[in-house]
Amino acid sequence: MKNIGVLALQGAISEHVEMIRKTGNSPVTVKKPEQLNELAGLIIPGGESTAIRKLILRYGFMEPLKAFHKAGKGIFGTCAGMVLSATAIEGGEESLGFSHYTAMRNGFGRQKDSFEADLAIDALGKAPFRAVFIRAPYLLEPGKEVEVLAYVDDKIVAAREGNVLVTAFHPELTEDERLMQYFVDVCCEGI
Ligand code: GLN
Repeated sequence: MKNIGVLALQGAISEHVEMIRKTGNSPVTVKKPEQLNELAGLIIPGGESTAIRKLILRYGFMEPLKAFHKAGKGIFGTCAGMVLSATAIEGGEESLGFSHYTAMRNGFGRQKDSFEADLAIDALGKAPFRAVFIRAPYLLEPGKEVEVLAYVDDKIVAAREGNVLVTAFHPELTEDERLMQYFVDVCCEGI
């Protein structure tokens, strides 16, 4: 059993907490930087990346999050969390630089504002993974350290670099806990 946090500043928090519990791990709702010390991994949830970034700055999370990443702890960025974890955001907003790629915000455009897709993710086995996309970004220009895990058309929508996992979609909005389990097993060392 590992302590897995959800950065609880803005966005989709309770569904992640539930998913962490379902995998038999211990969820921590993270509202203060000191709480990072007790975690094996942290989820940066979907929501609005500009709002989450403002709150990261306001509540003094910027340096503690970077230290958390440097220490090799697990980080799972979903949707807005994927945007923030990038080394660069198309358009020039500030990001946290946890993994080498550029994030294209709202990359699927207006027609595909919200959609679902069955993804082939080899790391999770044969059964497709149903993914919910909500004003989703995608990844551009992955660095050579980045392992691409899934595509929609020719767009990268899931990837891992070391202990950092990112998805353009919301894995907490279905019942399928395989991706959370993968994060805990592969990216988070025990605490
Ligand atoms: N479009 C949002 C952003 O760029 C992300 C949407 C989401 O997290 N569902 O912040």
